[in-house]
This record gives sequence, structure tokens and C-alpha cells, in this order.
Amino acid sequence: MRDPYDVLSVARSATQDEIKGAFRKLAAQHHPDRNPDDPGAQQRFKEINAAYQILSDPQKRAAFDRFGPAMAGGTTGPFQGVPFDMNDLNLDAIFGDLLGALGFRQGDRGTLQKEVRISFEEAAFGCTKDVTYERVESCVDCSGTGSAPGSTPDRCSACSGRGRVRVQQGVLPIAIERPCSRCRGTGRIVIDPCTTCRGAGLVTKERTIEVTIPPGVENGATRLVERGGNAPRPDRAAGDLELTVRVAPHDLFRRVGDDIVCTMPISFPQAALGGELQIPTLDGKGKLKIPAGTQPGTVLRVKGKGIPRRVMGGRGDQLVEVTVEVPTKLTAHQKELIAQLAQEMGEGVHPQDASFMDKLKGLFG
Ligand SMILES: [Zn+2]
Ligand SMILES: [Zn+2]
Repeated sequence: MRDPYDVLSVARSATQDEIKGAFRKLAAQHHPDRNPDDPGAQQRFKEINAAYQILSDPQKRAAFDRFGPAMAGGTTGPFQGVPFDMNDLNLDAIFGDLLGALGFRQGDRGTLQKEVRISFEEAAFGCTKDVTYERVESCVDCSGTGSAPGSTPDRCSACSGRGRVRVQQGVLPIAIERPCSRCRGTGRIVIDPCTTCRGAGLVTKERTIEVTIPPGVENGATRLVERGGNAPRPDRAAGDLELTVRVAPHDLFRRVGDDIVCTMPISFPQAALGGELQIPTLDGKGKLKIPAGTQPGTVLRVKGKGIPRRVMGGRGDQLVEVTVEVPTKLTAHQKELIAQLAQEMGEGVHPQDASFMDKLKGLFG
């Protein structure tokens, strides 16, 4: 075993965050699943893991810093005398780091998070989506043991399968017990690694599930798929899969509660004379009556064309905000007609104009 600081390429003064970062990077890089054609990857991965087990634990790190290779006392490795108990390393911690290295979030390593992207219309009316994602599972072929099917791990000869050995330390007639370094405290030596997981006991599997999204779902809503998360332990239920719904914005509509809002440009003649207008709705083409004399900024309501209501039933409304377009390209004839219209209408015809002129008079006396 090499110096754990060298293995992770970190300084002796490295912070826990730096150590964690270095471990993640290296573990991801050298993970056997990512290097299927490189037989040395598994050994490197184990070495990286072992180094991290020491440096991530303040007590073990301090013990190594203080005694380091000196504690080895001429035996096979630098960690012989370090109070480094493989039996204390619970499997969850190892798997946890492994999962972290594979890019899974911290905390409960069984829980997976995933986003489901749906369109505005799918959110309004509900939909069924196939969600494909990767999760870590215990290797089925070796039941997570890492040994090839049919082969049983050898009993470790160094510790007679106990996982611990007694060592005479220094000149004192006291034998201390420490974990066996040969089998890393497991008491077993994998002689024939499982080919599916290359001895890791874990595999990454792609999985597709069908998810039903209810009508009226809002952006950011979450759904829990029980036992849809990682399953690193064969003896434990899988974690949950937490789905977050992401609703794509719509080109024309935006949502306000159960209502949808859109902006509709109309011409000056339409605004002045009124009429019927074709408008886009969530259900396709719809019709909207414009009253004569509609002002810019007026909001017209189309009943029942909004988002289905989840609790009360029925649907929200569609609100159409009217803008009035002023033409920019006019023919000579059109200009003449507008000029005629202006003359015909004279001053003070527009109600808003009149109040504006009153305010002006008030200002300038
Ligand atoms: Zn396996
Ligand atoms: Zn052993």
C-alpha cells in the first residue's frame, strides 16, 4: 500500500473538502465499470478507496500523520499499526463514497433525484411519461459479494478467516489485535472475481419506468417513486426516486394559478369597430369577441379555457390581453384616408385625449 496522500495526490495540509474532491475525481476516473478493458483499474480503485477511508476520517488521518509508516514496524505495509479497523468501516460508508464518486448526491445514498421535462400542454392536461435513468444495484450474479458464481471466496490464510490478527508490539509483552490487512478485515479473499461487476459487487443499471403526471401539475412539483432509487445492498430495500417536474415555457401562454394569459395584437379598425377574432387556446383554435371601442391593455376573459383544476374540478379561464398595433408602412392612399379620418374626428373626440388635455391645462394654468 502506498502513502494515502500520494494515492490521492493531495498535500499533507489538504482540507477535508480537497480530499473529498480528489477522491471523487480519481474514483470516477478509475472505476472498474468505466475501464472494462483495463485489469489494473480495480486495483487502483481499491487503493484510492483505501486511501480515502484513512484520510476522510480525522482520527485515522491523525493516527497516520503521527505514526505513519513508522508504526509498520517492518511488516508488510504502512498501515499495519494504525488503529485502522476495517470492521468499523460500515459498508454503507464505502458504498456511499462509491456512489458519490459515481455522481450521486450526498446524504441518503439510496435516494435518487431526477427531473421529468414536460410541455406546457402536458402539464395542463396530464400525461404518461417513460422515465429512463441509471441506478446502482447490488450485482445479481454474485449477490453483491464480488465472487464469481459458483466460486466461494477463500478463507484468508493470514487470519484464518477471523478478519483480525494478534500482533506483538515492541518490547512490551502485550499482544494487540488489529484487522487483517491481507483480507482487509473480511476474513475472505476473492479468488475468482465476478465478471459482471469485476469484483465490486455493484453494477450500474439503466431502468425505464412509466410515470403518470396528473392534469394541472405545476412546475417544480415533486413525485416520489418508492423503491425506485439506488439498491446497493442486497439485504435492504432500495431507496426512493424523487422526481421533479419541469414544465417547459410556452411560446404564447403563461400560467397564473389556474388561468392562462396571452397577449393578442389587434388592428386599430378592429379595436374601434369590434369584431370576432381567432385566438389560440390550449384546445386549438378558438374565438374571441372584441367589443367596439376596445382600449389597448384591455383584458378579455374566455371562460373555461384555462388549466384543469385539480381539487375543485372544472377549468380556469384564458385571459387575453389586447394590444393595438399602429401600422408603420402605409400607402399614400391609406395615409390620405387616415388624414381624412383625423380631420373628421377633430380635436377632443377621444375621451382619453380630453382628460389628458384637461390635465395639461391644469399644469400650465
Ligand atoms: Zn458481481
Ligand atoms: Zn485475513
